[in-house]
Amino acid sequence: MKKNDWKLIVFFLIVAGVFFFWNEMRGKEGREAVIYVDGMEYQRVSLWKEQEILVGTGNVVVTGQGSAHMEAADCPDQICVHHRPVSKSGESIVCLPNRVVVEIQGEDCEVDVTAY
Ligand SMILES: [Zn+2]
Repeated sequence: MKKNDWKLIVFFLIVAGVFFFWNEMRGKEGREAVIYVDGMEYQRVSLWKEQEILVGTGNVVVTGQGSAHMEAADCPDQICVHHRPVSKSGESIVCLPNRVVVEIQGEDCEVDVTAY
């Protein structure tokens, strides 16, 4: 019986591990960068999709590897360009002069019950 107990424990550990990892991946893939121009939604893109998006007249948003950053901008202050890349839900990069906002949305690690 002892041998079987061990097998059972190992089995549950593997199942728990796989489940945890799967949730983690889902959470990450669910995150996306939402770009707003002048308060209106302009485009949303997955953080895991490598992309360069030209926003408005001169803002270039780059996504990929789970984060987003402002690659270039034609605004005078360049605050948005110097902002560190954002990756966590709720974080954002704001370009005030050009009225461009990049916001991270999506669940970090929550199970979406509607998907089952
Ligand atoms: Zn700017």
